[in-house]
Parts: sequence; structure tokens; C-alpha cells
Amino acid sequence: MPTHYRDTVITCDNCAATADRPAPGQAFRALHEEGWREKPNPEERPLRFAPHTSIWSCPACPPVAVY
Ligand SMILES: [Zn+2]
Repeated sequence: MPTHYRDTVITCDNCAATADRPAPGQAFRALHEEGWREKPNPEERPLRFAPHTSIWSCPACPPVAVY
């Protein structure tokens, strides 16, 4: 399941591992340093709005995005 931007828990779309979402306004740097990766959900429509859900990968899974 893609993770909604309001979800308090981030879920890996490959293996369903979870991580706590940083508090609002806090950087995702710690998650990224652990190896979590995120990309906008490509199946979300319409795309004229900013996507509300994201695809996440955990450190143990192939990264969905590199940054
Ligand atoms: Zn995973």
C-alpha cells in the first residue's frame, strides 16, 4: 500500500516493513540515511495535483528512488 502523506507510519511497498514518520516539519534525512527511499505514487491520478501518496522502499529492499 502506498503511504499517504498523513500516515504516521511509513510502510515499505515491497516487504511491508515500517518506520515512524518524522514529526511535521522535520527532515526525512535520518530515514534517508538509514536507506529508506521514496517516490511519488505513479498510479495516483490526477497528477495535476501534488501526489498524496508515495511509494517507499526500506533499507533491505531495492530502492525505488536514489537520492
Ligand atoms: Zn522492504
